[in-house]
Amino acid sequence: MEGASTSSSPPTVSIERQTPLSPRHSWRSCFEGSDATSFINLQYIPPGEGSKVSITEEDVADEILYWTDSVVGYVMGKRPYYPHFKAFIEKHWSKDVTLVYLKNGFFMVRFQHSDDVQKVLSCIHTFEGRVIIIKKWSKNVILQRENFDTLPIWIRVHDLPVHCRNSTSLSKVCSLFSKPISMDDPALHRDKDQYVRVMVEVDVHKDLPEDMVVDFHGEDCKVHVEYEWKPIVCSVCKRVDHAVDRCPQRV
Ligand SMILES: [Zn+2]
Repeated sequence: MEGASTSSSPPTVSIERQTPLSPRHSWRSCFEGSDATSFINLQYIPPGEGSKVSITEEDVADEILYWTDSVVGYVMGKRPYYPHFKAFIEKHWSKDVTLVYLKNGFFMVRFQHSDDVQKVLSCIHTFEGRVIIIKKWSKNVILQRENFDTLPIWIRVHDLPVHCRNSTSLSKVCSLFSKPISMDDPALHRDKDQYVRVMVEVDVHKDLPEDMVVDFHGEDCKVHVEYEWKPIVCSVCKRVDHAVDRCPQRV
């Protein structure tokens, strides 16, 4: 039957066709009408002579103002886990802060009030026993870790008789190996602590004793010292913020 062939697949005809080019559009036409309110618009600024871009102080005046009440710094040793450090700052410094992690282990904390900056800068702070080095932020601040010969650390002095846990006794005991700075008030937790917590300044290059003998009214007794953190001096670069196996100068 002649009509049978028409009910099966029609014969294919190969025709080379040039696909007509669609009219040229800007990709922007695909986004017309989209809601871009969550973005900040930028603009094309023709570069000047050469390939160097210059950002003037005037360009960033608003940002300088925004970050004025800020401090920058680092925690001695490894950088803390962000949520833990944020919680620490909100508890001890101010609840209303912005914490930013920067390069080289540095952080930046922006306060709402300049009074908070002064308050924080006027004290020695430690995180998990490690001192926090901070300074006021400025646009010219250099994020470079200093090298220190001495550092403040917290120690716990054990085995002191209860009647010898005053500032004079602690000053004498701690002066054997450090410069005493301050102590927790033992009256606040006299009932539960078996030790007294003291902040002392130590020479990072000297060995720190863990046991010492103290004469209590004519009787020698052993006193144990526990260190919440001990400075480690790198044997390669002599810095105190890392061990030798983490030294960037190690070949
Ligand atoms: Zn090193």
